[in-house]
Amino acid sequence: MRIILMGPPGAGKGTQADFLTKELKIPHISTGEMFRKAVKENTPLGIEAKRYMDSGQLVPDAVTVGIVKERLAEADCQKGFLLDGFPRTVAQADALDVTLRELGVKLNQVINLLVGRDALLQRLTGRRVCKSCGATYHVLYNPSAAGQKCQLCQGELYQRSDDTEATVANRLDVYEQQTAPLVAYYEKKGLLLNIAGNETVEAIAENILKVLGSEQG
Ligand code: AMP
Repeated sequence: MRIILMGPPGAGKGTQADFLTKELKIPHISTGEMFRKAVKENTPLGIEAKRYMDSGQLVPDAVTVGIVKERLAEADCQKGFLLDGFPRTVAQADALDVTLRELGVKLNQVINLLVGRDALLQRLTGRRVCKSCGATYHVLYNPSAAGQKCQLCQGELYQRSDDTEATVANRLDVYEQQTAPLVAYYEKKGLLLNIAGNETVEAIAENILKVLGSEQG
């Protein structure tokens, strides 16, 4: 199964991707996570990516396409994969097309999570992440039972530097301008499945699995 999970920042891609990749036993490829790891490790890639991430801009296509291409060539991707947060521009989608053709494989589905802008703003600015295990919470809708600590591992909770109000507004604008055109792009290819993203995590996951199952026939 080769899937792209699309949707604006804050639509719940990460949460759904975690669930789906466990369920379908395929690797979870998140370019955002790859960049955050590089930033944490202070690698040359991280230093370059940070300049864009902190202001909510996209990392240049050439850099992003390069890391995805390398990742897709790894052995575990032979059984399939789920792309989360990639592609984010038409140029990235075209480059992915070429890469998949070179690998001799095809995409099965593009899942597009739909959530309105006001809800996204609220979700993103209230999001908190565990420094140790990466679990995500929301100050209002999904607070940690352990207060300022992670209820799973007691790690410290923090706000991603790009989840502040100013950066979030910019990220949503960038999404509208550069990523939203991909909805029509994949619709034209007959791969797009729209899923309402304003339900509970469990209900959304169930809907996605249902449509994936029926599309696979
Ligand atoms: P995410 O965790 O997917 O919201 O990504 C966090 C940040 O990483 C984005 O705001 C971008 O700066 C950068 N990023 C992640 N994926 C991409 C991509 N496909 N193209 C360009 N920049 C990306």
